[in-house]
Amino acid sequence: MIRFGPSGNCDAFYAAGYKESIQMPEWLNKMGLNAYEYSFTLGRYLSDSTARILAQEAQKYNVKISVHGPYYINFCNDSDVSIENNTKFILNSVRSLKILGGDHCVFHIGAQMKLSRQEALSNLEKNFKDFLEYYHELGDYEDIYLCPETMGKYSQIGTPSEIFRICNWDKNLIPTLDFGHINCIMQGALKNKTDFIRIFEEGIETIGFEKMKKCHIHFSKIKYGPKGEIAHLTFDDNQYGPNYEPFLESIIDLGLEPTVISESKGTQGPDAKVMSEYYKSCLSK
Ligand SMILES: [Zn+2]
Repeated sequence: MIRFGPSGNCDAFYAAGYKESIQMPEWLNKMGLNAYEYSFTLGRYLSDSTARILAQEAQKYNVKISVHGPYYINFCNDSDVSIENNTKFILNSVRSLKILGGDHCVFHIGAQMKLSRQEALSNLEKNFKDFLEYYHELGDYEDIYLCPETMGKYSQIGTPSEIFRICNWDKNLIPTLDFGHINCIMQGALKNKTDFIRIFEEGIETIGFEKMKKCHIHFSKIKYGPKGEIAHLTFDDNQYGPNYEPFLESIIDLGLEPTVISESKGTQGPDAKVMSEYYKSCLSK
């Protein structure tokens, strides 16, 4: 089943008089949405007791929660501090995710820093595979998917091809395809249904249909420049894209059932709703 929802709490949620994240499932249900991404990106803290209340609300209103790990994760960095932090940040995120009843943990896998692309990728491979070994030794999170994200700046690791290759390393890895980011590194070339299908098909070839079918998706319009991503926009943007219509048509054509999260700037709830409505209208044609 495909799900739609926002990342974080949008302006419309607060404008309707709501105040706290634990109220999100109720609001999402009223909006006809059924996914919610809780972000630890600013090192935000979620107590277990609050997580349990949020989980109960999510279950009551049929909302599936995913989490986004802190931005500081970087598996290309070989320092002991970084290796220790990567482990801590991901494990803290999946621990909360498990309480929240979800199974998609999104994170940014690394940045090139002053290394060559090749050096960065080989550090990443070693450090991330070490982490995965430890992760399975723990054995507590075998039912959770780690979802490394495609990134929007050339200095970050995370082209679609890189993410697909990484997702082949372990059964618990599935991709987060951020089509706003992908459009940034393609300098706006993500336009038609065939452009989206080409990316999904590369994924299907590399990691298989079953993993692609349940992949995680971030969708928003994003402003870009020569270095890639600059700023998240809303669906009112007509300049940068990408457009959601060809994206949604492509997942229907391919029979995919991803979780689709809107990361629009401030309008992520209403924009998720726009996508959900368009998806339904295509199905009823
Ligand atoms: Zn992200």
